[in-house]
Amino acid sequence: RKACFRIPTGSSELDRVLGGGIESMAITEVFGEFRTGKTQLAHTLCVTTQMPGIGHSGGKVAYIDTENTFRPDRLRPIAARFNLDADAILQNVVYARAFTSEHQMELLDLVAAQFYSEPGVFKILIIDSIIGLFRVDYSGRGELSERQQKLAQMLSKVQKISEEYNVVVYITNQMTADPGAGMTFQIDPKKPVGGNILAHASQTRIMLRKGRGELRVAKIYDSPDMPESEATFAITEAGIND
Ligand code: ADP
Ligand code: MG
Repeated sequence: RKACFRIPTGSSELDRVLGGGIESMAITEVFGEFRTGKTQLAHTLCVTTQMPGIGHSGGKVAYIDTENTFRPDRLRPIAARFNLDADAILQNVVYARAFTSEHQMELLDLVAAQFYSEPGVFKILIIDSIIGLFRVDYSGRGELSERQQKLAQMLSKVQKISEEYNVVVYITNQMTADPGAGMTFQIDPKKPVGGNILAHASQTRIMLRKGRGELRVAKIYDSPDMPESEATFAITEAGIND
């Protein structure tokens, strides 16, 4: 078994409840309402993955964006905070925008091919968000079972990538009213969006909720080796912080 590693989140509190950061060879799902920091954490991970350190020195990032919310310029102040060169950081982020659920599946095959051709170079796969396009593409009545089947296929692909290439997989899941899909989702960790398929596929699940101002509260569910616990962090210009 390859030695797994952890990527820090930018918040020492969050890292502490995660046992040091987000672990490789596993899927970590972050879920929560709009503006709870899922995408800001994705941006922060683009930088912290590239911090010099054991297990992830010089790591490249694969970023699949389904919502068009990646902002490369957001990485600059985050890189500055960690004393890293922003242009070098940006060059190591391989970005792809997914337009349909099928396209998202194809991109995963391309990601796997790239990880295969550059062994040990990529350290993280970010998918923001994991099921948004599936909600849109399979929104009709009677399409739920097909959606869940496709979702399961995708998650098993993602799981395989995480283990085969020893990378962190960070996926986000927005849980709120979703007019595009014509449905309302509630935040209930016992009844996850994506059904149990997504919950079971993710080794660690982090629920985010709003606190005062720019503070957010993360609650850890289902971690294989950490107790259920909470951490408070801040969203700042320089990324996720204490
Ligand atoms: P989600 O992806 O969960 O919908 P985001 O990750 O986009 O949410 O987080 C949005 C929050 O991040 C907002 O509260 C916003 O104020 C904060 N934010 C975004 N950019 C910055 C920034 N440059 N400086 C400080 N806070 C920011
Ligand atoms: Mg987002």
